[in-house]
Amino acid sequence: MHVADRLTQLEPTNQEEVSMGMLLSKLDRSMVKYLREDCEVLVNVDAAHLGSLDRGIIHVGCPDCDQFVDIMRHYEKMFRQNGHHGPRLHPLCLNGGPILIPEESPLNTAELPQGKILMHNIGQAYIMKAISTVALYAHAPCGAATAAGLSIFQVIDLLVQAKTAVKAKWPLLKVACFLHVDKGADGKKTYHVSRDRWVNLNKSTCWLPEPEMEEPKPPEAVHSLEQ
Ligand SMILES: [Zn+2]
Repeated sequence: MHVADRLTQLEPTNQEEVSMGMLLSKLDRSMVKYLREDCEVLVNVDAAHLGSLDRGIIHVGCPDCDQFVDIMRHYEKMFRQNGHHGPRLHPLCLNGGPILIPEESPLNTAELPQGKILMHNIGQAYIMKAISTVALYAHAPCGAATAAGLSIFQVIDLLVQAKTAVKAKWPLLKVACFLHVDKGADGKKTYHVSRDRWVNLNKSTCWLPEPEMEEPKPPEAVHSLEQ
């Protein structure tokens, strides 16, 4: 079933279900750790990742109300560290954010090509506001990505494809990818996503999920089988 069809069948979630359901899965937590510590695809953010902040940033992100303020605070910190009074941001926010941009994204349909709409708006912002830096800001856990059944790996892959698409259309734009991760009790953190390291990662062998271990049989059961 396509994600758009699945969404129409969902009941609005209550607050308890939101907080229960929107935690990073154990597998996604392991993936984030692996991509950070073993592969360095996810690295700490440095203002250099965005180049000059003088003209501001076109922010392409998800409007998730539980994460938006934290992401804006992160921008404010980056701008202030670079001697600016505050951020100059042009936010373009649709549910899912930059992972909508690739044409093959499962979040798009022929009737609802949200990626094209985002691309159109990036072009407008570039011309109207003369901002030549784009931050593609995905996040996890993301309701739109979860509804589409996407893992962290798939989100990062779509994010990197989005950068490729934006650079292909506007080669002079500076484009950087970020992943905001809400780790629940362990806090929230934004990582820079290295496109080069992601592209060079051997996807076929880099990630082997831990096999499901069978529960050991109790000694009594083993004993009774031997009789
Ligand atoms: Zn989201």
